[in-house]
Amino acid sequence: MSETPVISLVNMGAGYGKRTILSEVNLTVERGEFVGLIGANGAGKTTLLRSLLGLVPGATGEIRILGSTPASARTRIGYVPQKHQFQWDFPITVKDAVMTGRSAHLGLFKRPSSDDWVAVFSAIKRAGIDHLSQRIIGELSGGQRQRVLLARALAAAPELLLLDEPFTGVDAPTQDMLNVLYRELAAEGLTIVMSTHDMLSAREACTRLVGVRETLALDATARSLSVQELHHWLTGRSEQTPTLHQKGTA
Ligand code: ATP
Repeated sequence: MSETPVISLVNMGAGYGKRTILSEVNLTVERGEFVGLIGANGAGKTTLLRSLLGLVPGATGEIRILGSTPASARTRIGYVPQKHQFQWDFPITVKDAVMTGRSAHLGLFKRPSSDDWVAVFSAIKRAGIDHLSQRIIGELSGGQRQRVLLARALAAAPELLLLDEPFTGVDAPTQDMLNVLYRELAAEGLTIVMSTHDMLSAREACTRLVGVRETLALDATARSLSVQELHHWLTGRSEQTPTLHQKGTA
């Protein structure tokens, strides 16, 4: 019997008020895939990620995460928001910020157990920020902040990791280090979906690229698409979605 897909979207739609952002979205993502969700600014990438978390009211169609509804699967999903969405002026240390990723395991008003601290320090080590664990989060650079957000998501031992624009404001060496880590995590069985408008970096890092433009207009193994094809698709200069190299045929 085949494994339950990590993500299954059937005829999904999402929007805000009367405005439709995404429609007729069909997507299946299997365990261990590293998917780059690419598209121009405002294409609906974040809306799609937030729909997977059950955070877009009125999303339509079928959304199944690990065979469950987004609400039921919430504790199995790690979410790394865009950096500006986190409150960096809150005067807490890195280790305490990472502990906030364990909140679903802690429950209300519960003190962290030694298991929680083991999970937090293991995630901190994985993200390569052991040396920063006692630092106040507001003092950190963009790349360091990205790693704190990643550690915070990993602290809950998720089965699905959603990364929203993780390359923004991150220097090239940190980006390279994180890409190696994402690939290692995917090889260990973690499923990763990353939104980005940086299609070159996505092509380098991911195993599969999915293009968002009102619906899912492109779906291919990452290296099967040339840089030129991707550029034309992203800038809308080619009405023709590349069809020569569909997913799985590279
Ligand atoms: P970016 O790369 O700029 O983050 P994106 O592809 O992630 O873009 P979304 O953030 O999903 O795009 O936004 C898609 C559209 O939905 C945009 O036009 C945006 O203004 C609109 N939008 C996003 N969030 C809301 C909201 N809470 N209420 C109303 N409109 C919204």
